[in-house]
Amino acid sequence: MSAPSDTQRMEKIVSLCKRRGFIFQSSEIYGGLNGAWDYGPLGVELKRNLKNHWWQVTVHERDDVVGMDGSILTHPSVLRASGHVEGFSDPMIDCRTCKAHLRADQLVEKKGVKQCPNCGGKDLTAPRQFNLMFETHVGAATDESSIAYLRPETAQSIFVQFKNILEVSRKKLPFGIAQIGKAFRNEINPRNFTFRSREFEQMELEYFCRPEQGMELLEYWKEERLKFYENIGIPRSKLHVLTVPDEERAFYSKGTYDIEYDFPFGRQELEGVAYRTDYDLSQHQKASGKSLEYFDEETKQRFVPHVVEPSAGVDRTVLALICEAYSEDQAPDEKGKMEMRVVLRFHPRMAPVKCGVFPLLKNNPQLVAKAKEIVGLLRPYMTVFYDESGAIGRRYRRQDEIGTPFGITVDFETLGEKDPALRDTVTLRDRDSMKQERVAIKDLPEIFRERLA
Ligand code: ATP
Repeated sequence: MSAPSDTQRMEKIVSLCKRRGFIFQSSEIYGGLNGAWDYGPLGVELKRNLKNHWWQVTVHERDDVVGMDGSILTHPSVLRASGHVEGFSDPMIDCRTCKAHLRADQLVEKKGVKQCPNCGGKDLTAPRQFNLMFETHVGAATDESSIAYLRPETAQSIFVQFKNILEVSRKKLPFGIAQIGKAFRNEINPRNFTFRSREFEQMELEYFCRPEQGMELLEYWKEERLKFYENIGIPRSKLHVLTVPDEERAFYSKGTYDIEYDFPFGRQELEGVAYRTDYDLSQHQKASGKSLEYFDEETKQRFVPHVVEPSAGVDRTVLALICEAYSEDQAPDEKGKMEMRVVLRFHPRMAPVKCGVFPLLKNNPQLVAKAKEIVGLLRPYMTVFYDESGAIGRRYRRQDEIGTPFGITVDFETLGEKDPALRDTVTLRDRDSMKQERVAIKDLPEIFRERLA
């Protein structure tokens, strides 16, 4: 059973994202471009933390994976061979009452009658196939010969560069090629905030193997990917593995899992992990006439490798991180009265800002100088935010709302005014427990190295 949707919670999240600079509507001052989003100062940090962590564990920490960065503009032959030109489409239905364009699977059914989910209208057109690829023209001519596509997935450039990368990296099977980058799909009905966009980013790994290793590696990568989500703060209890049934799986796939997450708007796909057999490489070999075979030195066999593909969405994972982190609790205000606190409980590894630094008073030059010294001490290791304005409780609250896991306050004890033993110590506040401890400034880098690991 999927989790019930929570519209109110989602509205609060969308509003927080805008208010604090995580995500804005693209071209907002001109009324917005549907299905496109801009990430603000905090959103871009969160997104980078996610992509860097994926790259770290997928490429840097492994001997069997290398990276690449392919072009977005794609030769039509690539997408003809992959089947996208012919078949990358969704069935589209129009509602004649409210003129909405709908994906066939978005219709609602009441008493056996299909209805428009927007207006309840029953006057619907028959479904027709709508290709999701964005077409453009390369060069000055705008005819058939100049057509190119914005890639609908990053995977195809990996397949097309397979031979080059195999030669330069000198890898032996099994090995993978990883890529993070933009993909474009002219979705019929973008919705649920950034969940279904027309421009989005993917983190894809194509892991090449021998045919007999495919099914085993499918299981291996499913488990690795589940671990990845847990390590960035998404609990296993909110993740679900859907075994895509035979009739819904691509015809060339021998097994596909969808990893789903309980979003406030329901259980939805975060990532697909698919065993795609040798379909892609064989298609490109056939269409290009170039060999994409692998030669096994030991057995002297030549064959087209099979591939297992974990394909994750950056934007969907960012959204899952924000949805998972959003919480409301009670905290005392300046006068000790309890009030509602909004806090983003990001895993410290993902948090856009790791630490806030606050001088108790902004008009005390010694406090300010000490606080700035601490900023300088920590900046080489992490993102730090310096804030001197407003009551200290308000400053904490502002950082809680953007998910900053730690706060450092420089007070008169830091200056050694009350007790010389406390000179050069600060209070270190934990976002989640709101507990404060007294620590020496010189120990801060080591403390953070441990807590942010
Ligand atoms: P869906 O069924 O939700 O349309 P899909 O099965 O077509 O997704 P894939 O082609 O497997 O998606 O793409 C891999 C991943 O890319 C998805 O799991 C998702 O995280 C991301 N993705 C795909 N389409 C979109 C989109 N329109 N907006 C944001 N992310 C997307």
